[in-house]
Amino acid sequence: MQECIFCKIINRELPAEIVYEDEQISVFKDINPVAPVHLLLIPKKHISGISDLKEEDAGIMGRIQVLAANLAGEMGLAQDGFRLVCNCGRDAGQLVMHIHYHLLSGRTFKWPPG
Ligand code: AMP
Ligand code: ZN
Repeated sequence: MQECIFCKIINRELPAEIVYEDEQISVFKDINPVAPVHLLLIPKKHISGISDLKEEDAGIMGRIQVLAANLAGEMGLAQDGFRLVCNCGRDAGQLVMHIHYHLLSGRTFKWPPG
C-alpha cells in the first residue's frame, strides 16, 4: 500500500524504533506512547483491519499473539499484566488502516475502556 505509514515503516521509508522483526511481522515503539510500554505489532502484509481478515490470515494473526506473549514474558510484563488491543473502525478509534495490536503495559488500565 503506497500511502500506508506502517507499510512505509516496514519498507524503511519512514523511521521507527523497531524492536523485533522477522519475515512476516514487525514490532516497533508507538510514536505517541500512552503507557510506559507501548509497542505496535503488525503483519508485514497489508491488511486494513480485523474486518478484512481472511481465513488465510489466521496463521499470521496467531503468530502475532504468540509473539506478544513471548515479548511480554521477556520484558517481565506478564506478572503485573498487560493489555493487547486491536482497534477496528472509526468508533473504536482506529486511525491507521494497517492492522496492528497495541501491547500496553507498565501502569493500571481501566475497564471499560473510554
Ligand atoms: P490506532 O488508533 O489503533 O489506529 O493506533 C495507531 C497508533 O499508531 C497510534 O497509537 C499512533 O501513536 C501510532 N503511530 C502513528 N504513526 C506512527 C509512526 N510513524 N510510528 C510509530 N507509531 C505511530
Ligand atoms: Zn500498510
